[in-house]
Amino acid sequence: MADSGDMVIIMLGPPGCGKGTQSKLISSKFGIPQISTGDMLREEREKGTDVGRRSSVFMDRGELVPDELILEMINRRIEKEDCNKGFILDGFPRTLEQAKALDDILKKMGRSIRQVFYFDVPDSELIERLGGRISCVVCGKIYHKKFNPPPSEDKCECGGYLLQRPDDNPEVISQRLEVYRKLTLPLLDYYRGKNKLFEIHGGGKTIEENSRIILKALSGE
Ligand code: AMP
Repeated sequence: MADSGDMVIIMLGPPGCGKGTQSKLISSKFGIPQISTGDMLREEREKGTDVGRRSSVFMDRGELVPDELILEMINRRIEKEDCNKGFILDGFPRTLEQAKALDDILKKMGRSIRQVFYFDVPDSELIERLGGRISCVVCGKIYHKKFNPPPSEDKCECGGYLLQRPDDNPEVISQRLEVYRKLTLPLLDYYRGKNKLFEIHGGGKTIEENSRIILKALSGE
């Protein structure tokens, strides 16, 4: 396992840009957790909790879940011991308010952001990627029917079933992209201003190519 130091990493980019896949790769390489707010919300929903019920209406419409719900969840998660060496935020922050709140939380903890990776991918490619995306209900591994096919048509390498996310349908996809442009894109300037932004032109590149770029940036080369 690579030596990580304090690695607070943010993965920023539109839905379907590949940040989830890259987060999982960094997570296993450095032994730090991937914290996906989307996955956490889906779990809450599955368990039928209050947070799950309150967020599902927003998720189904492709809208953002209110900041206070997300911040409470994040606060609780990053306090856990497995985050001591670092963690990868995947899908958070998504609004300026969330970014500023994260700065406050980290400051209180005496920590700071190491790097924000931004994946720039053209809309046409995002739509194609999201439309063919399937993930394992057991281990969460993400495949694409065409670009990264699973070993068998409906099963993951771990044996779990593969499902398409309900919000990966054309109508909700276009709403999610719209919300991304309006509320999340301003974060680019925010992190650029803090000298934390590392831009990756992820369009047309393979998973391995993007992963090499990230690892090189993290090694400080
Ligand atoms: P994702 O799996 O990251 O695409 O997230 C799925 C859905 O969960 C989003 O469309 C939002 O409704 C909700 N969500 C995930 N992360 C956040 C966040 N940081 N802020 C608000 N809503 C979020």
